[in-house]
This record gives sequence, structure tokens and C-alpha cells, in this order.
Amino acid sequence: TLDFHPTGRHFLQIPGPSPVPDRILRAMSLPTIDHRGPEFGALGMRCLSGIQQIFQTRHPVVIYPASGTGAWEASLCNVMSPGDQVLMYETGHFASLWIKMATRLGLKPEVLTLPGLEGWRKGVQADLIEARLKADTQHAIRAVCVVHNETSTGVTSNIVAVRKAIDAARHPALLMVDSISGLASAEYKHDEWGVDVTVSGSQKGLMLPPGISFNALSPKAIEASRTAKLPKAFWAWDEIIEMNKTGYFPYTPNTNLLYGLAEACDMLLDPQHGGLPAVFARHQRWGEGVRAAVKAWGLEIQCADPAVYSPVLTGVMMPEGVDADAVRKLIYDRFDCSLGTGLGKVKGKMFRIGHLGDCNDLTLMGALSGCEMGLKLSGVKLAGSGVAAAMDYFAGHPSRMPLQK
Ligand code: PLP
Repeated sequence: TLDFHPTGRHFLQIPGPSPVPDRILRAMSLPTIDHRGPEFGALGMRCLSGIQQIFQTRHPVVIYPASGTGAWEASLCNVMSPGDQVLMYETGHFASLWIKMATRLGLKPEVLTLPGLEGWRKGVQADLIEARLKADTQHAIRAVCVVHNETSTGVTSNIVAVRKAIDAARHPALLMVDSISGLASAEYKHDEWGVDVTVSGSQKGLMLPPGISFNALSPKAIEASRTAKLPKAFWAWDEIIEMNKTGYFPYTPNTNLLYGLAEACDMLLDPQHGGLPAVFARHQRWGEGVRAAVKAWGLEIQCADPAVYSPVLTGVMMPEGVDADAVRKLIYDRFDCSLGTGLGKVKGKMFRIGHLGDCNDLTLMGALSGCEMGLKLSGVKLAGSGVAAAMDYFAGHPSRMPLQK
């Protein structure tokens, strides 16, 4: 065995959970308080107001002490009835898991995607949604479900185009969006984009550990929840929204994660650091730098449509015959860097580099160095140095905003 004790920080470059800033870790280390006591209401109100600003909504945002999967279930069971038809677009592994969940809940999902691997390399094709909704003259389809940032592939779909497709078809279906990995890294406007339910989670752009998740609502979604018949108790929005009016919850909330959430909202929204526009620009720029590296290596990016490249993560496809998981393992063992595995039908064929959470140019350069060394050690033939290309990109494109501490 190697006498190997890693020093320095582990490079957590998976696309969530993302690295948590020290400032948030410190905020979470405060003593846990009485969740029915006088102090708690102020914390609850701070969180609820902050998270509304992050979703860019004036309507309620429900916070669950659960992972994103719980918030997925909540989104469906609040507005759907047994046997309801839902139109779900498969962009990748996470979209397919949401589809599986809909089936398990007793819904009838109809899946749209492009043939072969194409559907997992491109964004949601809004024209397919429009055509299907136009054909549904009886309005049997109750909801359209899409994933904003498909974490398994690195594709950020155009939600505005999906909204336009539903409107063009003059269809009353609810628009439900999973932005678990998009929120707070990629631009997202719940109200302006006309989304009815947005699902998100803590462990990605919000820079928090896993453990809380969200449903952002529209008045139309709240209205639908009043008559929807799927069983719901813990996930039911009504009691939570009622108690949230004073900053409290009908269950024991995740107090220390809420300390972290309040801090994360302060950091992300801080006008001195440019607020959300600066956050989105930061991740776009990191995405550009990482893609410059992948292109210089001569490897293919999983996302085949530059219009929908993800600012959150980049999927790197391996040449035929190279096991992506073996490359990942080598990089982990030798350089103490975690990369995202290929999921579902791309398992072993690609790996994912996260550029979300608490990172900066140099942490990304470190991660790319680990990748380049690992690829070379694995015998992958590289066209050139991705590290040099990314350095040129970062040096040549200064960030417009000061970094946040
Ligand atoms: N949807 C997307 C897009 C995700 O990236 C994830 C997790 O990575 C999930 C859903 C599931 O969330 P969780 O693992 O927090 O339950």
C-alpha cells in the first residue's frame, strides 16, 4: 500500500455536491436553535425572502428538508391526480429518473426525445413539444416536464422556448422545470419565464451541502394543488405556505442548513459583487475556459449544440475503447480529484467536470491539470495541452467582478 496522506483540499469537481465556501461552513456551525422559538422566525423569513430572489419569483417557494428527489416528488404529487398524462422530455439520466418517478406515482408519462444518443447531446426541442400539444386537442396532457440543466450531460435547455411552445399551442398544461443543478449558476427567471413549478436543491449552485430542496410555485400551480388527487401529506404545500408567512415550518426544519442558506443568499445576491448577473457571468466564463481545454485535448464535448452548453459542468467524451471510469479512478487515486461519472447509457463513455459552487480560475486550472495528467497516464492520445489553452483563456478574459470571500 502507498503511504499516501493527501494534504491540501480535495478537488471536488463533480457537478454537485459542489465545494462549500468557508463563509457558509462557518455560518452553519452556529448552535442549533429552537425552531418554534422567537429567533427562528427571523431566520426563516431571511431564507424565504432570499430564495425568492434567487428563483426570481414573487410567489411562494417551499423548502423541504430533503434531497432534490424529494422535491421532484413534491412537485408532482401536489398538482397531479392518479392517471394524469404528463409530457416529459428526456435530455439525459436525470430527466429519465423523473420520468420513472412519474410512473411510480401512478401518472402516465409520455416521453419526447431525439433518437439514439442525440437526445442526450442536445437540449429540449421545443418544436416537438409544440407539435404534440397541438395534437392534444382534448387537453388531456396536464403538465410539460423538462430539466433545465441536465447534470448527466452538461446541457442547459432553453426554458423560454418551451414556454413559447406551450403558448403557441394554446395549451393549458402546467410547465414544470427541474433546475436542481441550474439554479444560482445559470440564469433562471421563474416568474418571467412563466414556469409553474421549479424544483431545485441545495448542493449545487447554492453552494450548500445536500439536504434541502425547493419547489417554487406559480398561482396556477397553487390553484391546481387545491383539486389534485394524488396522496400528499408531508409534501403538501398548503400547510407549509401558511406557516411560512411568519417564517416557521410545520415540521422540524433543517436549522443549520437554513443558516447556510441565508448566508448563501447574501453572498449570491450581494450588489457589491454584482448580484446574480455576476454569478451567471462567472460560470459562463469558467465553462468557456474548461471547454477550451477539452477542445485543445482534441476530445469531444458531450453537449453537441454550442447554443446550450452548460455553464455548470462540461461532459467529456472518451475516444472509443477508453473506459472513462478507469481514467476517473486514476485521477482520484493519483491527484485527489473527484470527477463526475457517466450516468445511465453514457456510463464508462464520458466523465464530467463541474464548474459550480466555490471555485475560481486556479481551482479549475488544478482540476484540469489533474485531468490532463490522468488522461496522458491512461494512454489517451491528446491533440494538445488543454491546460495551456485554459490558461490562455482565463488570462485573456479577465473576470469583470471581484471575487467574493
Ligand atoms: N435532477 C437533477 C438535474 C440533478 O442533478 C439531481 C442530482 O444530481 C437530481 C435531480 C436528484 O437530486 P438529489 O440527488 O438531490 O435527490
